[in-house]
Order: sequence, then structure tokens, then C-alpha cells
Amino acid sequence: MNAEIIAVGSELLLGQIVNTNARFLSRQLADLGVNVFYHTVVGDNSDRLKSAIKIAQERAELIIFTGGLGPTKDDLTKDTIAAQLGKKLVLDEEAMRSIELYFEKTNRVMTDNNRKQALVIEESIILKNENGMAPGMFLTTADHKYMLLPGPPSEMEPMFMKYGQAAIAGIYGSQARIESRVLRFFGIGEAALEAQIEDLIDQQSNPTIAPLAGDGEVTLRLTARDDAAGTAQSLIDKVEAAIMDRVGEYFYGYDETSLILELSKLLKSKNLTISAAESLTGGLFQQELTSVSGASGLFKGGIVCYSNEAKIGLVNVSPATIEKFGAVSRECAEELAVNIAAVSNSDIGISFTGVAGPDSLEGHPAGTVFIGVYVKGLPVHGEKLSLSGSRTAIRNRSVKFGCQLLIH
Ligand code: ATP
Ligand code: MG
Repeated sequence: MNAEIIAVGSELLLGQIVNTNARFLSRQLADLGVNVFYHTVVGDNSDRLKSAIKIAQERAELIIFTGGLGPTKDDLTKDTIAAQLGKKLVLDEEAMRSIELYFEKTNRVMTDNNRKQALVIEESIILKNENGMAPGMFLTTADHKYMLLPGPPSEMEPMFMKYGQAAIAGIYGSQARIESRVLRFFGIGEAALEAQIEDLIDQQSNPTIAPLAGDGEVTLRLTARDDAAGTAQSLIDKVEAAIMDRVGEYFYGYDETSLILELSKLLKSKNLTISAAESLTGGLFQQELTSVSGASGLFKGGIVCYSNEAKIGLVNVSPATIEKFGAVSRECAEELAVNIAAVSNSDIGISFTGVAGPDSLEGHPAGTVFIGVYVKGLPVHGEKLSLSGSRTAIRNRSVKFGCQLLIH
């Protein structure tokens, strides 16, 4: 199935608000295996909305509207679509009751135009609005499916998640549910990851596999339709195992988590303490680590040693190392890691030294980073990275790589 999203609202065209609804819906539809081919934005104008509908009917099977379901004069999405499809608007008793209830609860007086919100397009499935008044609608005709959603994201998003996606999947009102699991990867690009599992993505329809990249990370959302026997989780398990076979070395966690959170959990579970010596990251690793509650149990402390003087004076790096290899070197990173663990009596020492840019340093281009990792009882390890991007991106990514090195 392919889809078009039509966002209705003059504020969007005036640049007063950003069309986050289209972004949200596109992501969700990708998870459902629906291809979004077009995003359209149209103002609160009946004629122009009509022509947008006509164009969409030519090129999409599923047309999703957001905005313009409210009680005011400029809210004309419902009327326009009904007129365009030759359908009547009818009063939905349940929507009416919940609007009355809403007014009772909020102690406000209902006006006539609020009643308008309980009018729905005949023959449509009603999508309940649990966070506002205007109900959503889902209508199937011979050639198309139409979904009408309210504009405010706080109403639209939960409505879509609870009722909208089930309607699209054709399981609205049945026992079936949608289960999903997010796998998070770091240290591999989106294209490289996709290339390794391309055949799996192509073959899979239940669950679907939807990749998403951002912040140097890649996530895969596995979404399965559940049946009465509750097989969704085991379907997801199977596909997850196949994915892990190929790219498991880059995996770091499930669903809503982060590298620093996973690292903290790991250290806590193993009862290990850590300290850090940071040059190019300027304390970013320590800031991240201490933003997780319970950090005091595992984080001993650290030193920001930006200059060579500080590396030598505060973390006991030997002047000979800096003279011979430079501060941006594996040798320096390793010494920093070993020494910071010793100084603070930690089980683990981690260090970051490198070139955040934009200028090069010691003949190394921006993005050259060395991370030292020392775990008591094991040989120290220095990892060289060649990162790209802005100063901020290089620093952020260095911290994430450091976490990833420790997790694996
Ligand atoms: P209401 O009942 O609040 O009038 P509505 O369904 O009529 O809701 P609109 O009047 O079009 O929706 O928009 C209401 C508010 O929702 C906007 O002021 C804006 O804050 C938000 N909104 C609308 N469309 C979008 C969109 N595409 N992306 C993000 N936010 C949006
Ligand atoms: Mg409105």
C-alpha cells in the first residue's frame, strides 16, 4: 500500500509551525510497511484542499489528513472531504457524549460550534480522541482509504498509535495488536547495516524491519501483527536472531535506551568502578555518565586534561611519550587510561584524546581520535577513530564510541 499525507493548516504555510505530524506519521507508516510517496501541505482553504484531494486520489491508495477537525470556521477538512466524496456528515452519539463529558470535566460551557466536532463522515470508523474533543475517522471506499486526524500532536499521535494503525492494518476492533521492538546499533552506518540485512528486509512482511538513522546511531524497528495465539513476540525473536547473526557486534540495546545508560547498567551489574581522563571531549563523558541516576556507585571521578601540561602534571603522562608520539596518539591515550584508573583507584580507566577540529593538530586531521580503555587485569587498549562532522559531532561521537568499546 502507498500513502500520501496531507497536512491542512495555514500556519504551516506561513512558517509558524513545523509539519512534525508528517514526520511522525511517515515513521509510523514505514513500520507498518506502508510506503509514503508524498507529503502535501495545504492551507485552510476549501478549494485548494479539494484540488489537493483530487491529486492525491490519482497517486495514493491511503490518504491521511491532519488538522482542521476543530470547531472553528477555518476547520474545514471534514466538510471538504465529505463533499468531495459525496458523503453526508452524521452525528456520532458517542463522540457527542465524550464532548459533553469533556466540558463537564473542564467546567466550561459548550457552544454550538463544539457540537460540530461530533459530526463525522457517514460510514467511517471512528477513532476515539482520548486527549481532546474532535474524533478521528477512517473511511474505506472502492479505490481509497482515508484517515482524518486532528492537528495537535498531543491528540494525533496517541490516536494514531491506539486506533489509527490498527485501522490501517485492517484489524481495528479485533483482538489483534501490533507488537514492536527496537534494536539499537552504534559504530556502523545506516547504508552498511542495511546492505548486510537487505535480503531480510525484502523478505519480511511480518514482522517488518524498518531502519532509521540519527545521531550516529542506527535503529531497526521490528513490527509484527499479533494474532489470537500471541505469536508476534516469537516472530520478532526469530528475525532478531537472524539480524544479530550478521550485525550483532554493533548492537547495544533495546527500545528507549542510550549507550551511556547501557554502560551504566553494565558497570553496576558487574560492580565495577570507572574514572576518565578527557582531552578533546572536555568532560563530556563524565557529564553524560553523571546524568544517569546512581552514577555515584560506579563513577569515581576524572580529570579534564586539555593541555599537554595537564596531561603530564595531572595524569602523570610521561613527557617522553608526548615528545615522541604526540598528545594525539595511541600511546598517550593508553597512558592516560592506565594512570587515571590508578590515581582514582578505579577498576576501569577511559581516556579521550584527539582533534575535535575544525583545524588539524600535530599533523592529524580533525576527527582523529584515540580512546584508551584500561580494565584492571587486562592489557590496555588504544583505539584509533577517524570521525567526520562538526566539532560537536566529533566530540559526541567520541563519547559514544568510548561507551561502545566498554560495552563490548
Ligand atoms: P483544534 O481542535 O485544536 O482546532 P484541529 O484538528 O482543528 O485542532 P488545527 O486547527 O489545524 O487542528 O491545528 C491545531 C494546532 O495543532 C496547531 O495550532 C498546531 O499547533 C498543531 N498542528 C496542526 N497541524 C500540525 C502539523 N502538521 N504538525 C505539527 N503540529 C500541527
Ligand atoms: Mg483548528
